[in-house]
Amino acid sequence: MPQVQPSPGTSPQEILLAEPRGFCAGVDRAIEIVERALAKFGAPIYVRHEIVHNTFVVNDLKAKGAIFIEELDDVPPGATLVFSAHGVSKAVQQEAERRGFAIFDATCPLVTKVHVEVAKLAREGYEFLMIGHKGHPEVEGTMGQLSEGIHLVEDEDDVARVAPRQTEKLAVVTQTTLSVDDAAGITAAIRARFPQVREPKQQDICYATQNRQDAVKVLAPQVDVLIVVGSPTSSNSNRLRELAARLGTPAYMVDNAGELREEWFAHAQRVGLTAGASAPEVLVEDVIRRLRELGALSVRKMDGIEETVKFPLPKGLKIDAATGLEIAVRKMPETGG
Ligand code: SF4
Repeated sequence: MPQVQPSPGTSPQEILLAEPRGFCAGVDRAIEIVERALAKFGAPIYVRHEIVHNTFVVNDLKAKGAIFIEELDDVPPGATLVFSAHGVSKAVQQEAERRGFAIFDATCPLVTKVHVEVAKLAREGYEFLMIGHKGHPEVEGTMGQLSEGIHLVEDEDDVARVAPRQTEKLAVVTQTTLSVDDAAGITAAIRARFPQVREPKQQDICYATQNRQDAVKVLAPQVDVLIVVGSPTSSNSNRLRELAARLGTPAYMVDNAGELREEWFAHAQRVGLTAGASAPEVLVEDVIRRLRELGALSVRKMDGIEETVKFPLPKGLKIDAATGLEIAVRKMPETGG
């Protein structure tokens, strides 16, 4: 990367790092599942959809022997198949089982929790309103837990239009990576139209999404510009950029340091930096290096919640703590957590 000489008085002075930022427990686990499957069974390992929505992660795993596919037709008989962190519909799960693949499910346990709740309430006769973004694989996976009776609402207009067959037993579920504030607004609209609606005891938006948004709420007012490291397909990264912009701070999302543009920092003394839940820290370090080239003198970490969440691996990829050996593989399906 060529060295850029900062122009005096117009370069960033200080970088403020959001806490927490970057990888969450679900992403860590999903990547580890692919890496362990590669180590144990050798390449290729097939992965349905991008394991997590990050270009760097996907390219790294491709280089190690993972093959990313969207359609099960592209998986040869006898192959090992990993479901991405976003989860899959019942139809995909059943078809993959029918074809006899060795399946490892990297669905985030917090997404699986929503699937389990949907299945349980459906058995009790509930119909669902799902708050989420159309076309997102997590939404397709969650809505695909049922063959009918689950309706997508993306905004308050959808809430006004939606027509469930009955309203006695109606429940709300949400995508895990939404804007906390948007979801609260849409939920309020649902409550106003369907006062008897059942809401999740614990919200479906996950701890990692919540914590990263809370950190941006603290950080954004203290900086002149905010950079979010994340890929365009990453829902939670997009929400971080939007949140900062909504708070009045110019905000940009970059997939890597090469996408930073010098003019963004022309009048910025303090630059805020965060990363979506699927963006590895190495990309944040690259951005810091680039900002230093542009003149940044110091880096300061904000105070924030320390995350200690860790999810167990599927059994066939676990290490036995006593012997240090891998526990024997068995053919699955197995849910994520
Ligand atoms: S963002 Fe949340 S739901 Fe998604 S993988 Fe991470 S912890 Fe799981």
